[in-house]
Amino acid sequence: MTIRTRFAPSPTGMLHVGNIRTALHNWLWAQAQGGEFWLRIDDTDAERSEERFVDAIRADLAWLGLTIAGEERQSARFALYEARFAALRDAGRVYPAYETAQELDLKRKIAAGRGLPPVYDRAALALSDAERASFEAAGVKPHWRFKLDHAAPIVWDDLIRGPQKFDAATMSDPVIRRADGSWLYMLPSAIDDAEMGITHVVRGEDHVSNTALQLQMFDAMGVAPPAFAHEALLVGSEGKLSKRLGSLGVAHFREVGIEPEAVRALLARIGTSLPVEPLVETQALVESFDFAKFGRAPARFDEAELTGLNAKIVHQLDFEHVADRLPAGMGAAEWSAVRPNLQTIAEAADWWGVIEGPIVAERDLADADFLAAAARAAESLDWAGDPWHALTAALKAETGRSGKALFLPLRRALTGREHGPDMKALLPLIGRERAIARLSPE
Ligand code: GLU
Repeated sequence: MTIRTRFAPSPTGMLHVGNIRTALHNWLWAQAQGGEFWLRIDDTDAERSEERFVDAIRADLAWLGLTIAGEERQSARFALYEARFAALRDAGRVYPAYETAQELDLKRKIAAGRGLPPVYDRAALALSDAERASFEAAGVKPHWRFKLDHAAPIVWDDLIRGPQKFDAATMSDPVIRRADGSWLYMLPSAIDDAEMGITHVVRGEDHVSNTALQLQMFDAMGVAPPAFAHEALLVGSEGKLSKRLGSLGVAHFREVGIEPEAVRALLARIGTSLPVEPLVETQALVESFDFAKFGRAPARFDEAELTGLNAKIVHQLDFEHVADRLPAGMGAAEWSAVRPNLQTIAEAADWWGVIEGPIVAERDLADADFLAAAARAAESLDWAGDPWHALTAALKAETGRSGKALFLPLRRALTGREHGPDMKALLPLIGRERAIARLSPE
């Protein structure tokens, strides 16, 4: 049996970090099992779905490195839903209902007033043929409900939440199709999971009660259900379901220089008992992926943690990996010299500017003689070896300076900055001519 997962976003907006996490976990599980990860575009809602969001979803998954085995679109599968719907209707598992939204609302209010849960009373199921005919004659179009089997216990062993149990009698028969013929999420999703051979559904715990309903749909269709893993939701660092999380996505990450490796490394591990580690390769994330390690408490997303992790990822990236994002002319030696000082790859350009110059360096009057001596020493150095060591050793002997008094004026004059990459690596890249010019008195 091929393990098959799917990520099923509705193209009504951009993916946010919560969606990305769900996609990643589906992908990781498929990879871990040697299986397939599919993209399913849940675009039954023609009005709210937009093609630009479909394109953005594909682009985001590609950027994240979440390769797909294939893609399905619900809007191309209506014939399939129609056929399954007809079979369920003929079997008495879906039934027409004629209440208006206002009537249903009133029923809920009356139930609430009596202290009862807002469970649909199945009045439509009790209609006689004549009553139904009179609705039809009056031009009232029905919406359709799936008839739950109250006698069948709903149980499953959730891969994250453990044994789950629901009582169908306490749940409303879900509306699966609107009066205009359009589909609600519930039934098409179950049909597709069955038809696509989905073996594992990994999604947020906000879907737990949907799963209870969908399990009865699988049963009514005579197909085995997939396994389910419902993960605790993602919350902001302040511990709340924040609005900001809903707008944080790949566009933002790219803008602030976050690498896909960092997003993967963080989202794979938060909310689990495994530590968040700066793992560049997906292999380690795949191998350690385990539903048993997922906790029940919400996963906390902290943007500062992502930024810190991103820096640790950047420090490991090879030149080949970043070459096309570096300024023209910047080579492997320059990359390795500046890499440990970067938060983002884009910052490499600043250091390239420092290497290439021109730089603006403030000189302390008290360092004038010292720097003049440095310029002279730089003239006679062996630049092929380790010029920084040679320069500082010569100056130490000549001037008696050491420590900060020795190094800092040189760094300032050579780079225009107080801090930065190791001068041992940087100085050969600045090179003899530029170094002498920067050290020499104006
Ligand atoms: N389109 C649904 C959603 O975005 C899919 C849920 C599921 O994974 O079944 O909520």
